[in-house]
Amino acid sequence: METDAAKRLAHVKGRIADACAACGRDPAAVTLVAVSKLHDVAEVAAMAACGQRIFGESYIQEALPKMEAAPAGLAWHFIGHLQRNKAKLAVARFALIHTVDNADLAGILQKRTAEAGLTQDICLQVNVAGESQKSGVDPRRLPKLAEAVAAMGALRLVGLMVIPPVFDDPEGARPVFARLRTLRDELASRLALPLPVLSMGMSGDLEAAVMEGATHVRVGTDLFGPRQR
Ligand SMILES: *Cc1c(COP(=O)(O)O)cnc(C)c1O
Repeated sequence: METDAAKRLAHVKGRIADACAACGRDPAAVTLVAVSKLHDVAEVAAMAACGQRIFGESYIQEALPKMEAAPAGLAWHFIGHLQRNKAKLAVARFALIHTVDNADLAGILQKRTAEAGLTQDICLQVNVAGESQKSGVDPRRLPKLAEAVAAMGALRLVGLMVIPPVFDDPEGARPVFARLRTLRDELASRLALPLPVLSMGMSGDLEAAVMEGATHVRVGTDLFGPRQR
């Protein structure tokens, strides 16, 4: 019997495949990060039973016990705002931290990761639309931050991430996604680094993100239903 989780997962994968078909991309080039924040471990397990392997969490204190209790063999990504005083808790736990946006945070991650003898993949979160009150580095400060991070031996800068402003029209975010790609291209040539990752697109706008080159779409609501908070 097909479960709800299976149906939802198939639906989201279908959306990704359709968007890829519309722009001639290989669906295998788009990684689905199942955003399980504010959903319990049973829901993670149900999604894992359908074959989903990568999960995204936003709140460190919620994430850690859930990750302990979840089935083995899953990969976890951190996609929330990481406070400096909690950064050490994230070390060695996430395959990718999407949301580094300042040098202090990067420095803490660098120090703790190096102490653990590890390397940590990270993306820089960019405040593309220049919204006040929003996480993400200002695009004008991105090159300087990226250069600093690229020099931190325990951190591996793999790409950029954006959370666009809220638009009524799902196509509204598309210029923001296009801008992130341009910023990535400019940075990649400036630093002579590949920067393959473009983390962009959520339940409401993943098609536009895929069309603009997203490699990681972060989908919560359309996989797990509405969140309580
Ligand atoms: C919650 C969250 C998502 C998932 O959003 P949905 O609209 O539920 O798909 C994606 N990215 C980030 C950074 C989030 O915090």
